[in-house]
Amino acid sequence: MDPMPLTRDVVEFCCDTCGVVAGRITLTTETASNGRIWHNIKTFFDCSGGYGLNASVNAPVFAELQPLLADPPAATPRRICKVNENYVPFYCAECDLVYCIDEWDDIRAVIDHTDPYGSFEGESARCPHGHCRMISS
Ligand SMILES: [Zn+2]
Ligand SMILES: [Zn+2]
Repeated sequence: MDPMPLTRDVVEFCCDTCGVVAGRITLTTETASNGRIWHNIKTFFDCSGGYGLNASVNAPVFAELQPLLADPPAATPRRICKVNENYVPFYCAECDLVYCIDEWDDIRAVIDHTDPYGSFEGESARCPHGHCRMISS
């Protein structure tokens, strides 16, 4: 059986255009088998889980992020974006709006051409107002 997380904060964000749940952030603190405490963030960007982020979070970032997520009125995408824009891939900072996956257009792979192997950087997309951002990395 997996150990229960010591803390677990979940916040959902609804699409400002159509109202469906556009994304969900889950921030957890767990104790590893060696006793070390570690923090993890998962961001699901659509209900099928096709796009998302799953990353460890260091202690200073956790200290900044956790109070926001524990207090849903404070957990605005704008504030979370200031911590790390990758945590809110459904959010366009220029519009200051949340869009579900269906609103994003022109989703395309971004390749680092300065890398001789052409490494995959993630995917970019355009919001309904034409602003471009990375939606996965
Ligand atoms: Zn929508
Ligand atoms: Zn926009």
